[in-house]
Amino acid sequence: MTQIRLYDTMTRTKRVFEPIDPDRITLYVCGPTVYSRAHIGNARPAVVFDVLARLLRHVYGPDKVVHAANVTDIEDKIMAAAVAEDVPIETITRRYSDFYFDDLARLGVPRPDIIPLATGTIPEMIAMIGRLIDAGHAYAAEGHVLFDVPGWPDYGKLSRRPMDEMIAGARVDVAPYKRSPADFVLWKPSAPEQPGWDSPWGRGRPGWHIECSAMIEKHLGPTIDIHGGGIDLEFPHHENEIAQSRCAHDGAPLANFWLHNGMLSMAEAKMSKSVGNVVSVGELLERGHKGEVLRLALLSAHYRQPLEWSDTLIAQCKARLDRWYRALDITEISEVSGNAEELGSFVAALGDDLNTPAALAEIDSFIRVADRPNPQQTLHDGDLAYAPGTGSRILAAAVAAARMLGFLQSSPREWFQGDAGDANWIEAAIFSRNDARARKDFPTADRIRQELSDQGITLEDGPQGTTWRRA
Ligand SMILES: [Zn+2]
Repeated sequence: MTQIRLYDTMTRTKRVFEPIDPDRITLYVCGPTVYSRAHIGNARPAVVFDVLARLLRHVYGPDKVVHAANVTDIEDKIMAAAVAEDVPIETITRRYSDFYFDDLARLGVPRPDIIPLATGTIPEMIAMIGRLIDAGHAYAAEGHVLFDVPGWPDYGKLSRRPMDEMIAGARVDVAPYKRSPADFVLWKPSAPEQPGWDSPWGRGRPGWHIECSAMIEKHLGPTIDIHGGGIDLEFPHHENEIAQSRCAHDGAPLANFWLHNGMLSMAEAKMSKSVGNVVSVGELLERGHKGEVLRLALLSAHYRQPLEWSDTLIAQCKARLDRWYRALDITEISEVSGNAEELGSFVAALGDDLNTPAALAEIDSFIRVADRPNPQQTLHDGDLAYAPGTGSRILAAAVAAARMLGFLQSSPREWFQGDAGDANWIEAAIFSRNDARARKDFPTADRIRQELSDQGITLEDGPQGTTWRRA
């Protein structure tokens, strides 16, 4: 079995992953607050933890992983958006939740197994808050319930912040009903016109942090294998989740591994007009950027590193995928094997703390070998050993690896013809036709020429090779 090692933020070490129960591996990722279209930066954790779920399923079995990610569908920004449009909050949350999952589907991210809604977890949140009060970790004041941060000495262990610094940093949140500025809200009162639920502390609504603790307890258990999210959530959100859950569960850890993805920054100075200041996933897709290209861009850097988003990055990823699809187009694949021995180095790269840059480089190296039109061609450094007959096997490994990461989901025809103005598919077709002619497969060569002609492309064979023009 492939060993998986993951960098755990709590211990600041890369550790061997050992599931609590190998038959039910639990992964929870903090999801979106749904009041607007998702920023491309919000797609990064969704794509990164989708790759982690794929790796866990590859190693432990497709039905051994429970992947949960929440949707926050009650929050002040949602309420403001509903007031601005004069509609119920459900109109806002349903619209943007649908957009979110549709956008992610086009990035190759399936829906998680469990998608708890905050509004579907209110009784569990109220029950957990009640237990925290009973245990002396929380207190009610003026319709609010607050977590007593200075009363729990382990607070701050994840982000490694000293208590006095956190209290000083929270001064902006000072409120008369708080015992300490660092105390955070578990429950708050709702005005009559605001959405609210009855509770022992009056009609109100939950604070944001408590929902993840209540959802994890309800759907996954007191201690889970892996908790994921953006590094921007480490403090205070994840500190607060830990405080709530551990104090509600006699100190049991909330998660054995804490994984955090780095932030995405916009390289605005490098943006051309084609990208401009477009930052939402939906707009990027509507401008014609393919989902697989955006997915590749999000996985091109190691997940813990910052990622600079630019149109250069998008163009590089498009060219890289074109190369993969071109290789797919020129070689017959009889069978796509996920167990080919060639996959070992690819899976090992992913198992090394989800090293996607190294895993993608493995796919490149498979493609370089499989793509070679002439087996007699000299090998380059870094190429896999090539023996006649292994080309299609190596290509099958490349395809299996790429598909495991969510790529090569289209046929080459769909991929290239989707770009009407793009010459790449024409070049790919000419390459295929010349390859067929070299093999004296004239029916295939004639068919490709006819297909190009049907698209208004005329070929001309000359001493310098084949050129093309639009009719
Ligand atoms: Zn959370």
